[in-house]
Amino acid sequence: MTNNDVRELIVIGGGPAGYTAALYAARANLSPLVIEGIRWGGQLMITSDVENYPGYPDGVLGPVMMQEFRAQAERFGAEFLTDEVSRVDLSERPFRVYVGDEEHRAWAVIVATGANARQLGLDTELALQGKGVSYCAVCDASFFRDRKVVVVGGGDSAMEEANFLAKFASKVTVVHRREEFRASPIMVDRAQQNEKIEWALNAVVERVLGEDVGKVTGVVLRDVHTGGTRELEADGVFVAVGHDPTTKLFVDWLDHDDAGYLITLPGSTRTNIEGVFAAGDVQDHVYRQAVTAAGSGCMAALDAERFLAAEHHREQSLAAQRQ
Ligand code: NAP
Repeated sequence: MTNNDVRELIVIGGGPAGYTAALYAARANLSPLVIEGIRWGGQLMITSDVENYPGYPDGVLGPVMMQEFRAQAERFGAEFLTDEVSRVDLSERPFRVYVGDEEHRAWAVIVATGANARQLGLDTELALQGKGVSYCAVCDASFFRDRKVVVVGGGDSAMEEANFLAKFASKVTVVHRREEFRASPIMVDRAQQNEKIEWALNAVVERVLGEDVGKVTGVVLRDVHTGGTRELEADGVFVAVGHDPTTKLFVDWLDHDDAGYLITLPGSTRTNIEGVFAAGDVQDHVYRQAVTAAGSGCMAALDAERFLAAEHHREQSLAAQRQ
């Protein structure tokens, strides 16, 4: 295929949503091109054991699962470009997707670029990701039964994660950099009433401990007012300081909310531009699970397939009328 050929479908994004969309689209003979990013695989690449994805009774490593998702789509003819999209032009069909100077055109596009959990930006946090540092309590709480954990953040996610973790952990310490909470009062009340939850306010995590033994053993907390530091023993650190959807390339074209998440029509993956669909965390700030992302990737492929079939039918009818 040369750059001048127009594809049926381009999928942008290489996580559970993108690969599932590619799998369904490939099996529907749409020969999708998946522009998967240089660091393909999405958030599961920084996750170790995944125990909540159906079909893996013994669990699976996040990166292994993503390789399997990718291989399954490839088996049915999906093509991959391991590079970053630099620009899109969705002003008319065929849509144009650029990787540097290279232009790719398609009659339909699925955006599945995901969202990134914000990190604290510590070297020690990076080193212990998947070894006690987690960004998803729903995914990893059960690994911390009767253990001590720290939750960082003062928003609704932090409160929700603290309450959820308290069902498993022996102690949960919420570390928040202020005294006031961004979280809604009801969520804070609920956490404050939980006897297992303790509070370290006006404090930030300065370092995650445990690099020498390959797993989290605690954190160093710094008081933001006095500058004084202290160590807190912990087996897990749950960072809950928000997420950023990867939508910079799309916000000038596609409807989005204040936080940048793409808006899809209820009950579908359709965006405000006909022929452009959005799937996975890029349009979902509520569930954020691999299985829900995969589900919405499947929806997007079905929506795209139906859209393309209707368009072809329309073109054929017009051509027949002209004859
Ligand atoms: P959020 O509301 O943006 O809160 C992020 C929290 O992390 C803030 O308390 C912030 O502190 C703190 N933070 C940010 N960067 C930090 C850093 N580098 N170091 C230390 N702390 C840092 O994010 P969220 O809690 O994920 O919630 C996102 C949206 O989802 C919100 O609209 C929320 O209401 C919604 N949500 C709702 C529910 C629910 O209703 N069940 C559950 C989860 C999320 P500051 O406050 O000092 O800025």
